[in-house]
Amino acid sequence: GAPISNPLIKLHEEVAEFYHRVLLTTEVGVRGLSYANSRQLDKEIIEHFKIGYAPKQDNILYTYLHDKGYEDATLAESGLFVENKDGRLFDRFRDRLMFPLDDENGHIIGFSGRRISEDATQAKYMNSPETKIFTKSKVLFHFAEAKKAARAEQHLILYEGYMDVIAAYKAGIKSGIASMGTSLTDQQIYLLRRITSNIIINYDGDDPGIHAEERAVDMFQRVGGFNLGVVVLPEKLDPDEYVKKYGVAKYQEEVAAALSPTDFFLRRLQQKYNLHNDREKLQYLDEAIKKIATLTNPMEQDIFIKKVSEEQGVSLDSLKASLMREIRRLK
Ligand code: ATP
Ligand code: MN
Ligand code: MN
Ligand code: MN
Repeated sequence: GAPISNPLIKLHEEVAEFYHRVLLTTEVGVRGLSYANSRQLDKEIIEHFKIGYAPKQDNILYTYLHDKGYEDATLAESGLFVENKDGRLFDRFRDRLMFPLDDENGHIIGFSGRRISEDATQAKYMNSPETKIFTKSKVLFHFAEAKKAARAEQHLILYEGYMDVIAAYKAGIKSGIASMGTSLTDQQIYLLRRITSNIIINYDGDDPGIHAEERAVDMFQRVGGFNLGVVVLPEKLDPDEYVKKYGVAKYQEEVAAALSPTDFFLRRLQQKYNLHNDREKLQYLDEAIKKIATLTNPMEQDIFIKKVSEEQGVSLDSLKASLMREIRRLK
């Protein structure tokens, strides 16, 4: 690609290379490599994602860069160090498996480090702080690569975690991306919209994941113009855990069976009510009709009215009458 003129980006590229080399070729890296192996990250995956290891030892990165002639001022600006009271710099990331985060051109602008130790007082993931080149709300993990794959795969798949993007990659889905955790932003949605309108959301199957999926659907719909699919994995599994448990082929089936947003909404709604109780069933039908009335496509309304009618054993005529009344009320 084009030569990198931004010194902070150049530094990040160099640091990624360093962590990567530490992981693959050094004695201190063995600890990182055995963790990587325990997460079933093989050589090819480690290379594709340029995964690295930040050692435990005091200030290995600082020493390395200082000896290379980097000034403290530049290093302080990078976010890769924390400053003590006396202004001395210390490596921010220690004993962590390092995932480089790149911008849409594939230039490395930050890192996320996965805790390796069992010490739960340490955050499981630690990200670079905001810097001149790293704005968390605009970054999507694996975006530069995923957008190349989006043409062939005809969609982008949004995940919660880095390990989920990687599991998908191993399953042959190369169009996976992740925001930093469950906090999706409008800026990230705008980035995606430039690539494709077909978005599949596949967050973790646990309660926080499903709630975050609901929020994400709302956000995409507010921006508008998307064709959304929603995958809800069973047993509270995340995609990485699912692939490990059920294998690649089953996972691909789950993705192919992604729900439409309305289907997703209705399933969530059904879980809120005891549908064997007539009073609760009427509440469910009332809420379902309200949702279907907001759909702008009459054919979509038709599909869901029929579905609800069949599932709940209520006549199509009575549902249509309720729907018409609700639509009139909305006008
Ligand atoms: P792993 O499989 O390594 O345990 P995960 O991706 O399943 O990780 P989750 O708890 O599901 O972890 O969190 C999803 C994502 O949220 C992570 O990949 C990471 O981007 C972000 N995240 C989780 N915990 C933290 C944290 N303590 N600080 C910052 N980000 C976090
Ligand atoms: Mn989660
Ligand atoms: Mn998870
Ligand atoms: Mn996980």
